[in-house]
Order: sequence, then structure tokens, then C-alpha cells
Amino acid sequence: MEKKTFVTLEKLKEIDKTYPTPYHLYDEKGIRENALRLRDAFSWNKGFKEYFAVKATPNPFILNILKECGCGVDCSSMTELMMSDKLGFHGDDIMFSSNDTPAEEFVYAKKLDAQINLDDISHIDFIEKQAGGIPEKICCRYNPGGTFKISTTIMDNPGEAKYGFTHDQLIEGYKRLKDMGVKKFGLHSFLASNTVSNEYYPTLAKILFETAVEVKEKTGVEISFINLSGGVGIPYTPDQEPNDIYIIAEGVKKAFEEILIPAGLGDVAIYTELGRYMLGPYGCLVTKAIHQKHTHKDYVGLDACAVNLMRPAMYGAYHHITVMGKEDMPHDHKYDITGSLCENNDKFAIDRMLPEIDTGDFIVIHDTGAHGFAMGYNYNGKLKSAELLLKENGEVQMIRRAETPADYFATFDFCDILK
Ligand SMILES: *Cc1c(COP(=O)(O)O)cnc(C)c1O
Repeated sequence: MEKKTFVTLEKLKEIDKTYPTPYHLYDEKGIRENALRLRDAFSWNKGFKEYFAVKATPNPFILNILKECGCGVDCSSMTELMMSDKLGFHGDDIMFSSNDTPAEEFVYAKKLDAQINLDDISHIDFIEKQAGGIPEKICCRYNPGGTFKISTTIMDNPGEAKYGFTHDQLIEGYKRLKDMGVKKFGLHSFLASNTVSNEYYPTLAKILFETAVEVKEKTGVEISFINLSGGVGIPYTPDQEPNDIYIIAEGVKKAFEEILIPAGLGDVAIYTELGRYMLGPYGCLVTKAIHQKHTHKDYVGLDACAVNLMRPAMYGAYHHITVMGKEDMPHDHKYDITGSLCENNDKFAIDRMLPEIDTGDFIVIHDTGAHGFAMGYNYNGKLKSAELLLKENGEVQMIRRAETPADYFATFDFCDILK
């Protein structure tokens, strides 16, 4: 499928008068339409709720838009809980899915009456002893181990993943939680990431539904919600077929009707914790070409670097690139598109066929709305960019300013040398 930008060159030139590149730009209309589609697709399930994975795009303006679309939040740390609290997410609007969790984070999550998703059986005693007792609602994260397959394709390797309870720990864990007086129970699992397949959720749902039935038989615990977590992916490359959320939701419904309803568990609520699927395609990194270099290869240097988008450097991830205004020109130049870090893996693309690039061209890097800005860091003393929101009415709002050197030096305040 042809990959198009959600913003025009004209708009970028207009934005340029106020906000310099690089910046991440988000598409409010796209975010809202997609969130409402998800809700519609799962409307067959009375308790359905999406808990947006805050770590994917931890910006309060984005979280507010999703809140208006009926989403809750999935938090993994103290600061994510704090941001959610400030925005008015409380109680069952919050899922706390963390791992290797410090006691004070459990204490704070309990204070917010969040739904706590335990990563390990030892956390039952940990919360009991170090976080002031087990709360009334608890979710357990399941890791079946081995490899995770859809038909014959290996999707991921849960046996190598640090997360979750084993099968036997899960049964024992629910028994103990029940004896400790827990009233509301959830079951969660995350077995594969960025799946561009309509089969992932239905396959996972079947495993979790069967497990919930087994838990009921063996422990008497009735699971109230099943959390399918994240992992529904997006097509980063032009040749990938996007997921169809309606087909996915139908697949989950079929498993629900086959497994849960006959077991008397037809009231189970389905939860999701999507991050990438909710935001990935609705954000892009807007940059300009500032250098050309012709040595052993042809390089174009951007004003952005891996600090703004780490995925290519970290995982060799493909991000589509559009040279704005040249969409229809022949893609007859082979470039490495680089950032400025003193790291040879700071390349947004390697051997990419693109139209001839001139210095000053706007270069848009696609699909940076999730796990983009959020993974940023400050290596080489580089500063993080602004985040802008393209609103439904066409206006542009700055939703996070760019860092300044003062931000970079802020943690040295105690140091005499700077006075
Ligand atoms: C990262 C994460 C998510 C979101 O994953 P996506 O791939 O962005 O959908 C959801 N739940 C948990 C527990 C996570 O760690």
C-alpha cells in the first residue's frame, strides 16, 4: 500500500514560520477516528476498554484526547501514574502493568485504586509485606513459555521473556489471592509485539480464555476481565497489509462464544493495552536535510538524529521516508539518511531509494507516533525536540516544547562549577 503523509508540504511551510524542525507532529483526527473504530469493533463486549500504553506516547495532551474517546491508561512507572492521576484517570481507568516494581510504585498505584497487574508470584508477598497489604482487585500476567506460534509461524519467544507467571504459579497465585480476600480478578498476557496479522489477538484470546476456564475449575476464582495487552502492530513498510480491527475483534468474539460463554464466563470484560496501534501511524518526525556528503556512499544528513527516534538505530527498524513535494518524482537515488550522533548506527535509512534530495528539503519520517519521541535520550548532549499537534480544525498546537540547554544542565544544579 502506498504510504502517504497526513500533512501537506504547504502546511509544513506554514508551521516552519513558528516552529523550527525537527519536531514530532501528531494527527488528532487520525487518533480519534482510530480509537473510535477500536471501540466500535469490540462493542459486542459489554465491559470492553482500551488502556492506552502510556509509555508509547507519554504526552498529557495525547492522553486527554484518548480519554475523550473512552480510553483508560496502562502505566508502567511512578511518573506515568503521576501524569495519569493529574489528568483525572482513577480507579478502574488505570491498569498498572509493571515489572521489577519498586514498593513505592505499588503503594502509589494502590492509592489511586488502580488495577494492579502482577508480573510475578513473589509480588503477592512483596505487596503484602512492603506495600501495606494486597488490594481488592488484582490481575496476573501469564507467560506460557516456549515459543508462540500462529499456525506454523513462530511469532515470538515467551520462554526467553522475563515477564509473567508460569502456568503452575498462576493457579497457585489465584488460590492464594482468593484466600487473602481479593474480590476482583484479571488475567493478562503479552506474547508477541508489533504483529501485522489479524490472527494475533484471536490466538492469544483462545489461550487466555481456556486458562480462565481452568482457573475457575481448579481454584473457584471467577476472572472478571481478560487483558489482551498490546502487540497489535502497524504496517511500517509499504508492502505490509494493515491489520483490520473488525476482523480481529470478530476473531476474539468467536473464541469468547466458543470457550467463555459455555463455561458460564460470559460476563468477562475484554481489555486491551494497545500503544503502537493507537498512535504509531498518527505521528511523524518532521526534519530537514541540512547536509549532503558523497564519499564511499551518498549521505544526506538531517537536523534530527537517533535521540529523536531510536528505533532504526536500536532495532534496525524500517521507517518510511517521504521527501516532501517530490512524492511523484522517480526514486532513483540511493541514500543513507543520517543523524548527527557520533555513532555509525545513527541512520534513519540505509541504501534507501528516494528522489534526489536538495539541502533544505522537508523530510518526513513516518509512523513515529508510538515508541518514537518516548524512547528519546540525550546522548551526545543532544536535546529532545518539541511535539506538535495538528488539530482537527487544521490549527497546530505545541504540546511539548523542545528542550533547551538549561534542561540538559538542570540536574547539575548542585554543582559549584556551574555557578
Ligand atoms: C509496551 C506494552 C504495551 C503496549 O505495546 P504495543 O506494542 O505498543 O501495543 C502494552 N502492555 C504492556 C504491559 C507493555 O509493556
